[in-house]
Amino acid sequence: MPVEGVPVSGAVVDLEGERVTGLRSSGPASIDLGDVAVVPGLVNAHTHLDLSDFAIPVAPGKSFADWIAAVIRHRTQAGSDPARAVFDGIKEIESTATTLLGDISSASDSRAALESSSLDAVVYREVIGVTRERAEASWRGFELWIKDAALHRRIVSGISPHAPYSTQAWLFGKAETNPACQIHIAETREEIDFIEKREGPIADLLQRLGFTDTSSLANSPSAIVKRFPNAIMVHANHLAPQDFKSNRPAIVHCPATHAHFGRRPFPAKQWLDAGFRLALGTDSRASSANLNLGAHLASLMCGPDALDPATVLRCATLNGARALGLQADHGSIRPGKLANLAVVPIGTREDLEAVIGGLAHPVSVLWRGNWRKSKGLANPA
Ligand SMILES: [Zn+2]
Repeated sequence: MPVEGVPVSGAVVDLEGERVTGLRSSGPASIDLGDVAVVPGLVNAHTHLDLSDFAIPVAPGKSFADWIAAVIRHRTQAGSDPARAVFDGIKEIESTATTLLGDISSASDSRAALESSSLDAVVYREVIGVTRERAEASWRGFELWIKDAALHRRIVSGISPHAPYSTQAWLFGKAETNPACQIHIAETREEIDFIEKREGPIADLLQRLGFTDTSSLANSPSAIVKRFPNAIMVHANHLAPQDFKSNRPAIVHCPATHAHFGRRPFPAKQWLDAGFRLALGTDSRASSANLNLGAHLASLMCGPDALDPATVLRCATLNGARALGLQADHGSIRPGKLANLAVVPIGTREDLEAVIGGLAHPVSVLWRGNWRKSKGLANPA
């Protein structure tokens, strides 16, 4: 399943080192994988590894602000170990079909741990702050962090102004010129009410946290959207294609998180038909029971807004790679790209829907030309 191009029956994928060098429809092969589908490694375009220490997701609560408050409590509790959470999150993802990750880094820098993992990644350092003092401290932290970018050979360093309700507007301005940028935007109705009218549960939460002056936050989500033609917009549940004028940034949808909060069906088709690159993510274990993107895909093929299986596979691979700016190396099986492949049993059903179902539990994963050694994954060589 090369994603770029039609599926090839009886295919042979040629590899040299960490790259794919050819894709043939017949001929000799040194390893026979049997009755399987070979698909590009999945791209989990949005997660928070440093929140991987939630055994179960935080209950949605009465409001989104309740959920945010519970996550803040978790992060600030005694004994909290975000570096350990990063490690555990990586281990979990290494046992799945995902080979490329977009990670939001806040409580712990994930770059070193990712560098020694069998995952490729873009790490987006979060900048946040309702007050000037906190926003400036966050920016200073980013400036120090980005100085180390060159130390990481495989990991791309980017920025993530957290969200318009939590981050002073000038910090968004600082992120504007960064080519690798993700923003949480318009996730809930509460967020819109707060940004536009400074009322509702988020206003109450900020009051309780002692943030009485919110005048330096944005006043509309579209003001943010207009300034970032190339940033990844995460969630966008309360935006529509027309809010973006001529910009067509990547939109990241997180199906498991969406279901966890019981939100109305995400209009994936509407975004795709309007020309947006729709990518997929797991978000964190604070709102998703696991980080296995392959297990979150089936829901996109059901309901009134169901996507066809080929589109779902494209969203989970090539669109994610494009969103992260790494499509030259990732997202499809093509000569020249990295040999990041997931192997899925097809049994008696050879239809693409069954292949996508199988991505929840791949039998083997090849990462940069090597079989990944991880719990539950076989080494066919
Ligand atoms: Zn998120």
